[in-house]
Amino acid sequence: MSQTELILSNLPGNALANLRRVDELWHGVRSGSSSSAIPPAIYESSEKIDALDCDVVIAGGTLGIFIAAALVRQGWRVALLERGMLRGREQEWNISRTEMNTFLELNLLSLQELEDVIVTECNPVRIQFLGGPEVWVRDVLNIGVDPVVLLNLLKAQFLADGGKLFEKTAFEKAVIHPNGVTVYADGGPFKTRLLLDAMGHLSPIVRQARKGQKPDGVCLVVGSCAQGFPENEQADLMVSLTPMQQQCQYFWEAFPARDGRTTYLFTYVDAHPSRPRLEDLFEEYLDLLPRYQNTEVKDLNFQRALFGFFPSYQQGPLGSVWNRILAIGDSSGNQSPLSFGGFGAMVRHLKRLGNGIDEALQSDALSRDALNWLQPYQPNLAVTWLFQRAMSIGVDQKTDPDQINKLLITVFREMEHLGEGVLKPFLQDVVQFSGLSQTMIRTAIADPLLIARIVEHVGPSTLISWLGHYLNLGAYSTLYPLAKSLESWTSALSPTQRYRVHRWLDSWEYGSGSDLGSH
Ligand SMILES: Cc1cc2nc3c(=O)[nH]c(=O)nc-3n(C[C@H](O)[C@H](O)[C@H](O)COP(=O)(O)OP(=O)(O)OC[C@H]3O[C@@H](n4cnc5c(N)ncnc54)[C@H](O)[C@@H]3O)c2cc1C
Repeated sequence: MSQTELILSNLPGNALANLRRVDELWHGVRSGSSSSAIPPAIYESSEKIDALDCDVVIAGGTLGIFIAAALVRQGWRVALLERGMLRGREQEWNISRTEMNTFLELNLLSLQELEDVIVTECNPVRIQFLGGPEVWVRDVLNIGVDPVVLLNLLKAQFLADGGKLFEKTAFEKAVIHPNGVTVYADGGPFKTRLLLDAMGHLSPIVRQARKGQKPDGVCLVVGSCAQGFPENEQADLMVSLTPMQQQCQYFWEAFPARDGRTTYLFTYVDAHPSRPRLEDLFEEYLDLLPRYQNTEVKDLNFQRALFGFFPSYQQGPLGSVWNRILAIGDSSGNQSPLSFGGFGAMVRHLKRLGNGIDEALQSDALSRDALNWLQPYQPNLAVTWLFQRAMSIGVDQKTDPDQINKLLITVFREMEHLGEGVLKPFLQDVVQFSGLSQTMIRTAIADPLLIARIVEHVGPSTLISWLGHYLNLGAYSTLYPLAKSLESWTSALSPTQRYRVHRWLDSWEYGSGSDLGSH
């Protein structure tokens, strides 16, 4: 029996069976069989619907409840369908405190409730790569949020405001009509103006929209929360202990948790069939954990196992493929390919999405084109592709096993010199033009040969397409402040024109990372 089998089979909640279930899904992605097996979820009809039950149906409750609570607060009739029970998972979500203020601004949580959902806080957090110096940063991803408490509060708020929640109600399919959508689910059908897909990255709607496309990159993550570590309140944001092994560079994260210490091992890979199973990676995690945390596995009392895989696509976020359907949360691919911070991404975009969907409903801007503006191209997300590629290695690629560590040591040393104004946005998944440009120039001067090796590693086509995104990032950063000064003029426009102009402004603001200061 492996260490993984031994530990996970003794954890509550069928941890081992769950790991194997997620591994089956990951196998389906690697082998390309995951999409061919599922029937279509979306159909179109030219017939009109006679009467509508609500304005918005949201399928999927984990991050769906965030937007559901915001929209019902704005007075819309919202129905939320959740396949299971609407309940947060037993883990902690890490985020920065400033981002959590969004809930106060939107009046979704009171100050006391905000304190109740934040269950851990630590400062500063460490970044360190094999053989390099420690870099410390304050107030970045240093808050642990309890998903159970947060979802309970939002659910109570949503119901009190008149939202309709349907638990144990699985979305089956939807038919798009010229004036609405019929959503078929266990307790349905539901007739609505707009359907939001919040069913995660394995959503049947997304799988149909992406037509079986394999992800361009995947972040694999395994970890646990356990008690019995030597006294240690320190948090690590990104640490490496080893050179590349088995064509993977392993990174580690660690956070103090309410009931122990959470540690993760994560790595960036492509979806090649030979990539490791999560169960194999879990075994690697248990082998290396003693070295990382200076402890023996036998001395630990495991509370829960944590694991997942996060596909990402160069063409992200996913634009609308149909009228009246919009993806939000992980299904939209709106999060950075560098982190598995889909909760953080949702919080960051909650105000933008809440206001945008509100205006779309008011102006009846629900066509495919109009909805595309709500998940626009964001150059600051697109540029992070090169970083993911630079931190991963192809299954047959030959390279110096220390190359990724060397690159990261140099880049982080230069970012540290440039100060928190450059380091913090990058670590919060918000890349900005000026910080990125300064870091690139300093890194190229500090180690030109390393840069040449990275260019060779990622290949010319990735680099050329990246340059386009980098130039767009510069253009968006210039356009946004100029356009923002003209915003007051929009009051003279029609609702449809105003919807368009506001979405342009949003796309330039978020696409350039200028939203960072507004959280
Ligand atoms: C180990 C681990 C650690 C993480 N840590 C962090 C972190 O520190 N910070 C952070 O920001 N993010 C973190 N994340 C990511 C975060 O958990 C995800 O981004 C988030 O859960 C995505 O939510 P979602 O609702 O979009 O998708 P999902 O989590 O996949 O949820 C989909 C929801 O839709 C429901 N659903 C699915 N199918 C149907 C259907 N047919 N009908 C109705 N409902 C359906 C599901 O029951 C579920 O409620 C972590 C993830 C993992 C796995």
